[in-house]
Amino acid sequence: MGKQRPYKHSKAQKEVKAIEANQCLVCGTVAQPAHGHHLIPYSEGGSADLQNMLTLCPQCHTDYHSGKLNIDIYRF
Ligand SMILES: [Zn+2]
Ligand SMILES: [Zn+2]
Repeated sequence: MGKQRPYKHSKAQKEVKAIEANQCLVCGTVAQPAHGHHLIPYSEGGSADLQNMLTLCPQCHTDYHSGKLNIDIYRF
């Protein structure tokens, strides 16, 4: 739909990466730049809460979204 995600989402993605020092939660790689991943996708109504965000390296992020990374990520 080409709708920009609200500012608070990009802000939360920045925050979670800062908190986790750009370290991927899956493989431990410190990626520059790391990706902020929504546990519940923004497109499915996921919130911009830090509880809904985690840090992934670009590789794990791509694998996760293409279904190659067969893991359940639970943050808390
Ligand atoms: Zn990774
Ligand atoms: Zn993601």
